[in-house]
Amino acid sequence: MAQIRIDNLRKEFGAFTAVQSSTFTIEDGEFFMLLGPSGCGKTTTLRMMAGLELPTGGQIYIDNEEVGQKPASQRDIAFVFQMFALYPHMNVRKNISYPLISQGTPRAKVREKVAEVVKILKIEELLDRPVGGLSGGDRQRVALGRAIVREPKAFFMDEPLGALDAEFREHMAEELRALHDRMGATTVYVTHDQLEAMQMGDKIVVMNHGVVEQFGVPQKIYDWPATKFVAQFIGSPPMNFLDFDGTVERGATGVCLGNADFTVPEQLQSHQGKLSLGVRPEHVKLSDAAPYRGEILAKEYLGTTQIITLATANGSLKARISSADPATVGETVGIELDARKLSLFDATSGRALL
Ligand code: ATP
Repeated sequence: MAQIRIDNLRKEFGAFTAVQSSTFTIEDGEFFMLLGPSGCGKTTTLRMMAGLELPTGGQIYIDNEEVGQKPASQRDIAFVFQMFALYPHMNVRKNISYPLISQGTPRAKVREKVAEVVKILKIEELLDRPVGGLSGGDRQRVALGRAIVREPKAFFMDEPLGALDAEFREHMAEELRALHDRMGATTVYVTHDQLEAMQMGDKIVVMNHGVVEQFGVPQKIYDWPATKFVAQFIGSPPMNFLDFDGTVERGATGVCLGNADFTVPEQLQSHQGKLSLGVRPEHVKLSDAAPYRGEILAKEYLGTTQIITLATANGSLKARISSADPATVGETVGIELDARKLSLFDATSGRALL
């Protein structure tokens, strides 16, 4: 098991900066997600942690030892790739044994470890089968078996479920998380899927254009996004923004949009200029009496809930309400926002002001 500390980590490819001064800590035993859109630098960050890419600057500590310049083979980690590279001509037993045999582990010990691993992964009956004929899920389990058999300090996984179809992917995600909970080894997992990150992660780093936008537990990131980028990247539909020009005094506890006052959950930092009031769709209610008004443009039925799109003086707004609640396209309605759940952002920098 291992604590991994990233301090001002940076990677340049020629004139292009792929990762800019990233700093965060992965605690011993955590299931940790590196999340962001394609090209944001998550794979490069993981590859630097694993020793497959040399940093341009900054430090990587594994259990307080600086390993930034050390080769992967000296870091005691296991890397699980998206395309599982198994040896197709070998059977399951040989594939899983391979890392131990190549380390010179005695035969009896290898047999014991392999038996343990196939039991954990519930693939005992596959031991003598060639991997070539196995289903995608079983190949995945064999690849995991090969990664865990060495008992490395940490597992690094780059979109390991990316090639699977949606249903099977969810099933394997649950299995992976359960396996982690049984073994307790630090796991760093790259994904561009915000739902997967929220469901599986103990903590998440959200990256964009090589920059760490936010780092924390999933609920904190969902409830209190540090930037507009995070607010939009996480959640479906994403957080709404009502844009307005205004002045906010330091310590204020609310903002005024037209004829309506909205209380915010914490004291604000002073600010002048363009602002965005952020609210998640499930924290928007339609209420006849509310002074803030909008016109219903569209509704989308989702079973127990429906998504209502409203036009307001400050931009469009989506509300997630019960399907039982009446809503008619073309109607003008009052809009209430849950005061405990509002965020406020500097619209220009995108940073939260709470
Ligand atoms: P994806 O999910 O698409 O893999 P990512 O967030 O993992 O995206 P990276 O693979 O880390 O992103 O790439 C970050 C940026 O660095 C991209 O713009 C990519 O083109 C660039 N990059 C990555 N590796 C190299 C390289 N060896 N040489 C030049 N540019 C690179």
